[in-house]
Amino acid sequence: MSKAPLMPVEDALDQLLAMADEQRLADSEVLPLDQARGRVLASDLVATLDLPPWPNSAMDGYALNLADLHRQPLKVSQKVYAGLAPDTLLPGTCARIFTGAPLPPGATCVEMQENTEVLDDGSVRFLQPLKAGQNIRAQGQENRVGDILLRAGKRLGPFELAVAAGQGLAQLHVVRRPRVALLSTGDELVEPGQPLRPGSIYNSNRVLLRHWLSELGCEVIDAGILPDRPAQTRLKLEQLQVSADLILTTGGVSAGDADCLGQVLRDNGKPLLWKLAIKPGKPLTVGHFGTVPVIGLPGNPTSALVTFGLLARPYLLRIQGVEDVIPLSFAVHAGFDWLKPGGRREYLRVRLEAGRAVLYPNQSSGVLLGATWADGLVEIPENSTHSVGDSLRFIPFSELF
Ligand code: AMP
Ligand code: MG
Repeated sequence: MSKAPLMPVEDALDQLLAMADEQRLADSEVLPLDQARGRVLASDLVATLDLPPWPNSAMDGYALNLADLHRQPLKVSQKVYAGLAPDTLLPGTCARIFTGAPLPPGATCVEMQENTEVLDDGSVRFLQPLKAGQNIRAQGQENRVGDILLRAGKRLGPFELAVAAGQGLAQLHVVRRPRVALLSTGDELVEPGQPLRPGSIYNSNRVLLRHWLSELGCEVIDAGILPDRPAQTRLKLEQLQVSADLILTTGGVSAGDADCLGQVLRDNGKPLLWKLAIKPGKPLTVGHFGTVPVIGLPGNPTSALVTFGLLARPYLLRIQGVEDVIPLSFAVHAGFDWLKPGGRREYLRVRLEAGRAVLYPNQSSGVLLGATWADGLVEIPENSTHSVGDSLRFIPFSELF
């Protein structure tokens, strides 16, 4: 049997991203701030406010004009709390001021209360040398009106929502959700809560991907379980193509399933069954049903997890307009020897212990438990061996959400 060379992971990623660039979602919507988490900004967020909007105090203390210091002790002519509009500072006086309170016009610095002495008559003596501008947060020190604060394509997490809130925005303009039809294929699959038949197993991929898709801003069309039969598969895909931006399946791509999904895609379009140089997760089906893109992940839960995280996730972010779709990774030291070089790039479930990557003992692609034990994936390049202490690339699981 002739063996075609396996496709390197980065080639598969390049092709998926090229596909995604052609399928970027053009539609957008305006959402209340509270509902925009996990979504992608559709247009640049431009500042309409200087932040801070006015100079304010960074300390609890006293605001004064440095030029008056030689006249100290200074009488307190006003009290400025956060949220109040101060009067102009009377010459020759200081103002009691609290953190976040606007600086009275005419004041040039703030001294913290710890460095002052309040005399019996209520006037204030300043005990340390003072500098102009000290303890003042200048107007616009964070941003100026007109600054681009967040670019279109930025994913909105709590930090970004807080920046928008700081501008007083109650709504954000976001890319519409990708609609992803999710299908689990396999005659053996049973949903949790149902009795297990002899020979069957519970469907774990569905809940895994359903929630992961939601995290990535997608709307999930949950299409349940599909038996390994081409006619039913075709019918289902026909239904789903009407409403889906992507059909995402698991299973049904190996010889045991008679390559059910591939067969249907071949009849209805151009399937691309990629044999990837990746472990776990060698077979990946990419193609179209009609005009709707299909990504068929392998059925083994850890294979589905790794290929979704490394390949489908970047695709789904890119169609929403996210540029930077590659997860942050960093070098760690191997806490194990890797003596048998493999033809495929391996992604091992590891925990970081004292800066070293420790392997989950069972790295089989059918074993999902390792993912809950591990902190992330360590990458073993093709055809390489390693010893304890060698440097390897680590991708934290947290980067894949
Ligand atoms: P397949 O890619 O369909 O050949 O499936 C490979 C392996 O993954 C088989 O052992 C399947 O039983 C298992 N599998 C497939 N789909 C799922 C699923 N949704 N949940 C759990 N295991 C699955
Ligand atoms: Mg199957």
